[in-house]
Amino acid sequence: MPSWGLRTEGGASAVRPCPRRGFGPPLVSGQRGLDAAVPVRTLESMKKPISTEAAEAAVAAHYGLLLGIQSPWQVKAVDLKLEAKRVEVALEHDAQAAVGCPQCGRACARYDHAPERQWRHLDVMQFLTVIRARVPRCQCPEHGVVTAQVPWAEPHGRFTLMFEAFAVTVIEAARSFVQAMEILRVDWHTIQEIVRRAVERGLLRRSTEQVVHVGMDEKSFGRGQDYVSVMTDLTGQRVLDVVKDRDTAAALQLWEALPEPQRRRVEAVAIDMSAEFAAAARTAAPQAAIVYDRFHVSKHLNEAVDKVRREEHRQLLEKHDESLTGTKYLWLQGEAVTGERALSFGELCARNLKTARAWCHKETFVEFWAQPDVAGARDFFRHWFGAARRSKLEPIKKVALTLKDHLLGLLNYFVHPITNAISEGFNSKIQAIKADARGFRRFENYRYRILFHCGKLDLLPAIQ
Ligand SMILES: [Zn+2]
Repeated sequence: MPSWGLRTEGGASAVRPCPRRGFGPPLVSGQRGLDAAVPVRTLESMKKPISTEAAEAAVAAHYGLLLGIQSPWQVKAVDLKLEAKRVEVALEHDAQAAVGCPQCGRACARYDHAPERQWRHLDVMQFLTVIRARVPRCQCPEHGVVTAQVPWAEPHGRFTLMFEAFAVTVIEAARSFVQAMEILRVDWHTIQEIVRRAVERGLLRRSTEQVVHVGMDEKSFGRGQDYVSVMTDLTGQRVLDVVKDRDTAAALQLWEALPEPQRRRVEAVAIDMSAEFAAAARTAAPQAAIVYDRFHVSKHLNEAVDKVRREEHRQLLEKHDESLTGTKYLWLQGEAVTGERALSFGELCARNLKTARAWCHKETFVEFWAQPDVAGARDFFRHWFGAARRSKLEPIKKVALTLKDHLLGLLNYFVHPITNAISEGFNSKIQAIKADARGFRRFENYRYRILFHCGKLDLLPAIQ
């Protein structure tokens, strides 16, 4: 069982795990631990009625043990509210003990007390447990009058470290915020606050030294046309940061997720073909190769095929020909079409429809990615581009020109074979987060949730 003791040096915990007593400071010889204060009742003494004071002392000692309270803190009173199923444990700081300055750790004279505060603790036997205390303030010769750091909570925290650690674990595992709220018996804002604190803690501890391949992608946010931009560490498979909007300024802000020296070490960045992400990458990490993401390229080709299909479908319908009705997804799936539908798809392809020709250009381009090297890919592209430009299919001709304009970034794939597939993989997680919150009103909350679940951060508070 972890126990809370006095911090001894420089504000940082100097305690070592003790196999018998948990993570508090080991008892100094001659020091009376709280466990020594538990009254031992013999059979004879149990026959006598116990006094109220003795009973209260026993309960206080019991909670002291249960919560791992150690000198100079002790349990002053235990207030059991049966109806409310709530226990309030009042702690007090030994009036004679020195108070450690939270900034330099120096043992200082007590100055006064801060007003009483409360911390939610882990439930004890289903009783909601709250710790109350007036924290002493000391007068440090160097730092002036400062409030001591309590060993059971982080500064400004409303929960004990153990409650916060438990809550983080519950939120990580819960299907939704609502489920976590029910288990922890806290409100929505409290959960959001725990998430925020966990992410801030994680970001402070995060190392980005190994980040050499990054991905940048946009995602929709909220109901309207709002977008956010997301940066991912493609090797570490984690989200590095999320910012509002998808313009160049937003993309530049996203790069700040990496410290300056690390930005210079990024070798390649996978992006879609939008000018904004490319411009930001050239400014923030000019040495990094820009690699256009192959899944975005195939999205553009699919859109071109669909444009051809819609136009041709309209023309055929005028002639009462319904050949293309309900075929939209056949053309998107392409060769993956199986079963009876494959038969009709084969017939469609054989009919020399414009849609079928457009589909062929799209499917042929898949081979681009299978080329052995840059030279092979360049060669392949020249042939593919020539055929696409002669296709007389406007959407295909247009997408071919776009690809030609971005050819360098397409060829970079053969030097740095990276894609945004990982960040696409985060999509389902991010969708679930969005659905759970039914549209975030505040972007910040959305960002914290994404980093909480997809950032692979070290979220737990350090329990002493
Ligand atoms: Zn100090």
